[in-house]
Amino acid sequence: MVMNQTPAYRDGNIYIPVLSFTDGAGEAFIEALGGEGAGPVDVPLGAKSAVVELFRFTEHADGADVVIAKADAALVLVRFLDQATMTRIKEVFRLAAAEAFLPKTVAMFRNEKESEFKISCTYCGQKLWVRDRDAGRRGNCPQCRKTFFVPTQKSYITSYLMLTEEVPVVQVTAGDVSARNAIAALAERVVSMEEGSKSSTMRIELPPEETGS
Ligand SMILES: [Zn+2]
Repeated sequence: MVMNQTPAYRDGNIYIPVLSFTDGAGEAFIEALGGEGAGPVDVPLGAKSAVVELFRFTEHADGADVVIAKADAALVLVRFLDQATMTRIKEVFRLAAAEAFLPKTVAMFRNEKESEFKISCTYCGQKLWVRDRDAGRRGNCPQCRKTFFVPTQKSYITSYLMLTEEVPVVQVTAGDVSARNAIAALAERVVSMEEGSKSSTMRIELPPEETGS
């Protein structure tokens, strides 16, 4: 595990990179926080600020390890879930997951009033738009004709990344307060983790090592 040399948290700021995989999604997320382009943008949270910066992994996953190593928490922003994109998401998420003490959130980005999302057919790879309202129903791939159950976006991403309850999956919508709420909740976990580790340090005592043998 790579340890943070000087966590931003200690200066009163919580550094949260937004890891984005689809063009435009990360930019809209930063904009919803009152920032521009890739940021960084300051999100005041009571006594502290979250400093949020966008990193795009829209072509490859290179450099994600460097970004994650200096983070206090990570927001994985997903939009399209086609095969090529999911491969990049999985690669970056694997690096983040290796940091056991790094709070993480997966945020599903939607444009306002959007009620469908993009996946790939698991049989032939055909990109498909599926509607939220068809979740749980049986559908046919128009390309290979194979039958599959339409997932929810959340169940699709949860099973693909094998997420546990420690990693919340939330929805964020362009232009409303959901982006800010996602950042605030994530920053809250950084603070409570830091406070928890201060107040509940326990001592482990091992029996004396046996010599000889
Ligand atoms: Zn197919």
